Amino acid sequence: MRVTLIPGDGTGPELVAAACAVLEATGVALEWEVRRVGPASGSDSGLPDEVLASVRANGVALKGPVTTTKQRRGPKSVNVALRKALDLFAQVRPSRSRPGIRSPFSDVDVVVIRDTTEDLYGGVEFDAGDEDTASLIELVNRSGRGHVAPGSALGVKPVSEVASRRVAHFAMQYARTQGIARVTAVHKASAMRATDGLFLEVVREVALDYPDVGFDDMLVDSTCAALVRRPEEFGVLVTLNLYGDILSDLAAALVGGVGLAPGANYGPTAAIFEAAHGSAPKYAGLHKANPMAMILSGALLLRHVGATDAGERVDAAVDAVIAEGRVLTYDLERTPPATPPATTEEVADAVIAAMAR
Ligand code: NAD
Repeated sequence: MRVTLIPGDGTGPELVAAACAVLEATGVALEWEVRRVGPASGSDSGLPDEVLASVRANGVALKGPVTTTKQRRGPKSVNVALRKALDLFAQVRPSRSRPGIRSPFSDVDVVVIRDTTEDLYGGVEFDAGDEDTASLIELVNRSGRGHVAPGSALGVKPVSEVASRRVAHFAMQYARTQGIARVTAVHKASAMRATDGLFLEVVREVALDYPDVGFDDMLVDSTCAALVRRPEEFGVLVTLNLYGDILSDLAAALVGGVGLAPGANYGPTAAIFEAAHGSAPKYAGLHKANPMAMILSGALLLRHVGATDAGERVDAAVDAVIAEGRVLTYDLERTPPATPPATTEEVADAVIAAMAR
């Protein structure tokens, strides 16, 4: 099985190396095709065609996080560009309780599924002071739908019926195949009637095709409040791009933090597996970041390619290392408490040893 391997930057390369070691130890025959993105790729866009060609040919990739500048006029996100180019429309981020993690909750099993093609996250933005921004502001102000102060920056929030329908079917089918009883559509249709209202209308309609799956909807603010009080009541949360990004970090925090949060991006012809967290640049090269999110993303990859048993062994081995509590990185509480934090590589070795047991 040939898999495109995108090491990313920051902590990405060390985390990806740790995950590869674990996946190789499962015995599944994997051949890595390494492709670079971002500044290391040597291309202006940060996303050379050969990366897209490799993922298209292999149909599957394991990816480390990639840094995106916060500078106002800096280059656009490679992560967003990659998802767009490959039409990876559905992002799946599961968060589940694992014995040994200190948390007020012990029974969380939430999966956030978000459409990644639209919404405010789509990158359709207009800089303050630009000529086309001024024309757009004039158009909005003439429309009578509200007033935008001249000189503002603008972001466009596209939400289409087609994209909403597609992610809704994906989420309902995911719940059905995984045996998850409840799907909740998360939105703010009370305030954003045209955009979130359309999303809600379409998801509700799609849900009628799945009478065996429980369905309801909730405002995004109420969902946040409910998640930190009774998260065990939720199953799948299907939502728009920006809400999904925030909700998945929140859900991860309930079960141990982003160091334990895997993720996958699915499209019609390819899937990319990556941790929910970013490149944590301040830890780059320090070998202290937790590789478990990347390892668990690898477990999702194994399941996706049909190596279900190997994926489950990886997952169980991570559980075992956490439950033992001895070999854990700085972000997780160790047993006994004075135990020094383990390195990225020591955690990968401990997972490999647990798999062998
Ligand atoms: P981040 O997730 O990189 O870091 C936030 C905090 O989370 C860190 O300070 C650290 O305490 C913790 N953390 C992250 N990864 C960890 C790990 N493996 N183990 C233990 N703790 C971990 O988020 P950020 O600082 O907002 O973003 C840094 C960069 O990553 C930005 O450029 C951002 O755009 C990018 N990013 C990339 C992706 C991606 O490639 N898919 C996703 C999110 C953010």
